[in-house]
Order: sequence, then C-alpha cells, then structure tokens
Amino acid sequence: MRIVLIGPPGAGKGTQARVLAERLSIPAISTGDLFRAHVAEGTALGLRAREYMETGALVPDEVTTAMTAARLAEEDAASGFLLDGFPRTVRQAELLEQTLTAQSIALDRVLAFDVPDDHVVQRLASRRVCGDCGRILHADPVDGSEAHYCQNCGGALRRRDDDREETVRKRLDVYTAQTVPLLDWYTTRALLTRVPATGLIEEVTRRALAAVLPSILPELSVSADGR
Ligand code: AMP
Repeated sequence: MRIVLIGPPGAGKGTQARVLAERLSIPAISTGDLFRAHVAEGTALGLRAREYMETGALVPDEVTTAMTAARLAEEDAASGFLLDGFPRTVRQAELLEQTLTAQSIALDRVLAFDVPDDHVVQRLASRRVCGDCGRILHADPVDGSEAHYCQNCGGALRRRDDDREETVRKRLDVYTAQTVPLLDWYTTRALLTRVPATGLIEEVTRRALAAVLPSILPELSVSADGR
C-alpha cells in the first residue's frame, strides 16, 4: 500500500504516520525527519536545508525530491510506504508521479488532514519531541505540568526550533499558498480523501484507516467497542 499524508503543520501527521505505518506494516517516511537528520549530522544537504527550515520556508523541490527518491529506493519501501510531508507542492507531486510511473507503480490513496488554523498554533505551542526516539508529546500548558522526559524511552524532550509562533504562522502561509493547490491536483486523479483531524488520536486513526482500508472496518469497530 502506498499512501501520502498531507496536512498543515501541527495536524498530527507525524503521530498518525507512526500509528498507521505500524498498523499497515509499511515504513513511515517523513521528509521533515530526513532533513532534521541531515541537519544534525551537518551534511551538505543539511546545511542547505537548514536555511529554509529555520524560516519556515520549503526546501527547493529538486533537492527534496532527490532525497525522497533515494529513500524510496531502499529495500523496506519496495512493497509500500507512507509519505509524511511529501509532496508539498504540485511540482513535487509531478516528480513523484514520474518516479513511481517509471517503476510501474502508483499511489493508492492521499489523505488530507483538516484542522482549523487556531488549533494548529495551539497544538504546536505545546508540542515536544523526544531527542532519542522521535516520539511526539504535548506539554500541558493549562496546569503547567510540563514533562521533560519521554514516556516511551526516557529521552530528553525538546521544542522544535520552527515551532515558535512566528515561524508557525509563516509555515501556515506556505501551506496555504504552496500545498493547498495539491488537494485539487490529487482530487482530479481520484486519489484524495479528506480526514477531519481534530478529536482523539484513535478517532483520527480510525477515520484514516477507514479511508485506506474500507474492508477492515467491521473488524475495527469490534475492537473499538471493546467487544
Ligand atoms: P515537517 O517536519 O514536515 O513540518 O518539516 C519541517 C521543515 O522541513 C519544513 O518546514 C520545510 O522547511 C522542510 N520540509 C519538509 N518536507 C518538505 C517538502 N516536502 N518540501 C520542502 N520542504 C520540506
């Protein structure tokens, strides 16, 4: 199964990508994570990408697509993958389509996560990421009981540099201007399903799975009801 997740920053794509990939036994490939790994290692690609990431802008299409194509060529992605955060422009979608067509394969479904803007800013203000395992958690700004260590592996939690409110607003503008046109592009290819992404994580997962695997819905409703 080959799936693409599209959504504004803070829509919960990263969290859902992990859960869905595990449920579907395919790798979750996040271009944001790939770029952050390059930045952390100080590679030439990382140095270039950092200039764009710091301001909330997109890294140029050709650079991003080459990096993603190289990742998709790895063995674990041969029978399926879930792309989180790529493509983000119509140009990237065209390049991805060319890459897949050359291998006689195609995407099965594109999920667009819908969340209101004010929700996004709020979510990103409280987002923390584990420096060791990459798990995404939310500090609780209401009672101030901020967690400092990951519940999963004990690693130190940190705030992403680009989650500052100013950069988040810029990332939202970039999403509207450059990524939203992709929704029509995939609609005309009969690939797009819109998924309301507010509510409990499990509910969003259920909606996403319902969009990609209608045939397993009865089984899911049984486990969701606990019967
Ligand atoms: P993310 O973790 O998906 O929010 O991505 C973090 C940053 O990485 C973005 O704000 C961009 O600067 C860069 N980035 C990630 N994916 C892409 C993409 N498909 N095209 C261009 N830049 C990207």
